[in-house]
Amino acid sequence: MSGLHPSRPFPEAAREAVGNPQLRANLRKVTNTIREKRLRAVEELPHWEELRQLGAATKDASLANLSDRLLELEASVVARGGRVHWARDAAEARELVAQIAQAHQVTELIKVKSITSDEIELNAALDAHGIHAIETDLAELIVQLSHDTPSHILVPAIHRNRAEIQALFNRELGDPQHLSDEPAVLAGAARRYLRQKFLTTKMAVSGANFAVAETGTVCVVESEGNGRMCVTLPEVLVSIMGIEKVLQTWEDISVFMEVLPRSSTAERMNPYTSFWSGVTPGDGPQEFHLILLDNGRTDVLADEVGRQTLRCIRCSACLNVCPVYERAGGHAYGSVYPGPIGAILTPQLLNMTDKNANTLPGASSLCGACYDACPVRINIPQVLIYLRGEANDQKGVTLESLAMQGMRYAMSEGWRFEGAVKLARLGQGPLVRNGQITALPGLLGGWTQSRDLSAFPPQSFREWWRTRNAEPGAGSEGGQP
Ligand code: SF4
Repeated sequence: MSGLHPSRPFPEAAREAVGNPQLRANLRKVTNTIREKRLRAVEELPHWEELRQLGAATKDASLANLSDRLLELEASVVARGGRVHWARDAAEARELVAQIAQAHQVTELIKVKSITSDEIELNAALDAHGIHAIETDLAELIVQLSHDTPSHILVPAIHRNRAEIQALFNRELGDPQHLSDEPAVLAGAARRYLRQKFLTTKMAVSGANFAVAETGTVCVVESEGNGRMCVTLPEVLVSIMGIEKVLQTWEDISVFMEVLPRSSTAERMNPYTSFWSGVTPGDGPQEFHLILLDNGRTDVLADEVGRQTLRCIRCSACLNVCPVYERAGGHAYGSVYPGPIGAILTPQLLNMTDKNANTLPGASSLCGACYDACPVRINIPQVLIYLRGEANDQKGVTLESLAMQGMRYAMSEGWRFEGAVKLARLGQGPLVRNGQITALPGLLGGWTQSRDLSAFPPQSFREWWRTRNAEPGAGSEGGQP
């Protein structure tokens, strides 16, 4: 898996993933821990609901005038000595980064953890140009060294346990001493490796959590401080930002500084928040490039129901509460955006034309936990149902759609529904065993693939009700009305 395009339909990939007990155990442990910590962090704030509403309204206001906001951002960045580039798609964004690196004769660069750069498959594209990109976030480094792909927005190596990381570091980091599986020892080995890269690398690439139009400020929020090193030490800094990340005013950031850390790592405040505006002579990078990436986002914005998806601040709270994600894991989604947000964002960015991504809206039990957890109130279940409708429409007339039309006809009138139930009761005879139907025939077979169906009872509720009212004395039961 790399980039946005799933190589398989979700049901196929998920079936394989749920058969891996180690993966399920790793996921259960981490998501349960984060879930409980997040709840405690959120409960500390009595005005949490108001913050969620404010977060949603702030993003919506910016999205409502997105083109104006982006032009304002461009002007502010340029006024502070930065350069702004516009990328319509992943290919344009990749080419821009490669050109900047080549202009500086860079063959190695360091990277701040950036899911947007994963979306455009930047590392592989740079490799093709002979430029090696080194991930500096610890979890991203684990994923890179093991030639793996991220499976969680916030914890990309969530599917790896400590023993696996110990073996990997002993093999890849070339440490002369045998590393134990103590987290501090493993982090120390990564730190020694990265420190040397920070001090010798000329160019860095980052993503952006937010950008402020009125000041031209770009912001990265992180836990380890490696991002801070990347955006301050190299001579050249390139930041790739999805166009939906822009906010209007400096004050707008404040609400997200409250909701983002609590929703993602369950912290009251994240350890490192870096802000930068253009360049400052003699201090920090002397060349700053901001790449504004569309890659399908304007199509999402044009869709009345789907546009709320662009509010997402990538906190990953929806992943950690999702029963489907907890069992299937991130790789089953086949995209850099896994979990509930991935199930709606990936197919929309691909314009619902990708036949594998089109199966992602089905990756949900529609329990609504993601909507409750989302700090910007994205109604994920609503978008999921809407996209399922679109996916069905794309299939045209199928046996399933004809069956559904028949159901709608039967259920739209009480007498028709009653007649259909009578027919089904008569027809179910050979299928019933001990009051259960364990295997339905033909098209209906999918329903009983993973569950049994109760047989229709000899008398329906309506029939019982009519009989009951016809009985002498009926209606007096239970005393006075
Ligand atoms: S959809 Fe909401 S909960 Fe999920 S990552 Fe985005 S902001 Fe967080």
